[in-house]
Amino acid sequence: MSVITIKIGALEYLTAQGITAPHCFTTRFGGVSEGYLDSLNIGIHRGDTWENVLKNYEILGNALGFDTKNVILSHQTHTDIVLAVGKKELGAGLYAQELPECDGLVTNEPGAALVIFTADCTPILLHDPVTGAVGTAHAGWRGTAAAIAAKTVEAMVRHFGSKPEDIQAAIGPNIGQCCFQTDGDVPDAMLSAFGRQAESFIRSEGDKFYVNLKEINALVLRQAGVRQIDISTDCTACQSSRFWSHRITGGLRGSQGAVIVCKGGEK
Ligand SMILES: [Zn+2]
Repeated sequence: MSVITIKIGALEYLTAQGITAPHCFTTRFGGVSEGYLDSLNIGIHRGDTWENVLKNYEILGNALGFDTKNVILSHQTHTDIVLAVGKKELGAGLYAQELPECDGLVTNEPGAALVIFTADCTPILLHDPVTGAVGTAHAGWRGTAAAIAAKTVEAMVRHFGSKPEDIQAAIGPNIGQCCFQTDGDVPDAMLSAFGRQAESFIRSEGDKFYVNLKEINALVLRQAGVRQIDISTDCTACQSSRFWSHRITGGLRGSQGAVIVCKGGEK
């Protein structure tokens, strides 16, 4: 199965065919924000007005079926910290105080909509249809090397009794291997974390390297026991009118992200 594009009027988002909970990877299209935030900015620290960001969440909530009062926004700082959240965190970051620092979220609270932000980094979504638990992670290259994808799976196992083999996973748009040019620090981190298994996902050209963070995160998920993984083919830097790319914009940008809604489980 794969990651496909959904268009509803002006709204455009991506969805993984293998994830059976409401979810999306957002694009720039379909919101109300203006200028460099044009238009579906869901980031709260990008210079947008709270009213515009809220309206953008309302547009997504109408499409996916969540109440904006139930969003839980991550508070990302390129860590490998995963927080289990529930009823008392509903609204965090939008209506209520921000969460403590974290780059991964898990919950089994029905109605909760977990959100992580990206603009080149790798967004990851997880859903366990048996327990109903969901998770999301923001994996920059440091988070990728720290195996935050596996730590998010482990948090679903520890807190909600998920079995990794039941989990449906998706990896969304990020800066692709085509455009993620690095120095030696990134490949060194990957090889030191994952050994020779990471070698085939690193290409060298002169004294520069090109690293495939989607495939390395998929490797991390498989090592954690996840069997079903949908992977987007989209590159945020190649498609910089459709997605925000931190590299292309130099940082003057909005945020897209990943959203997943907990609907409860089979038992
Ligand atoms: Zn590219």
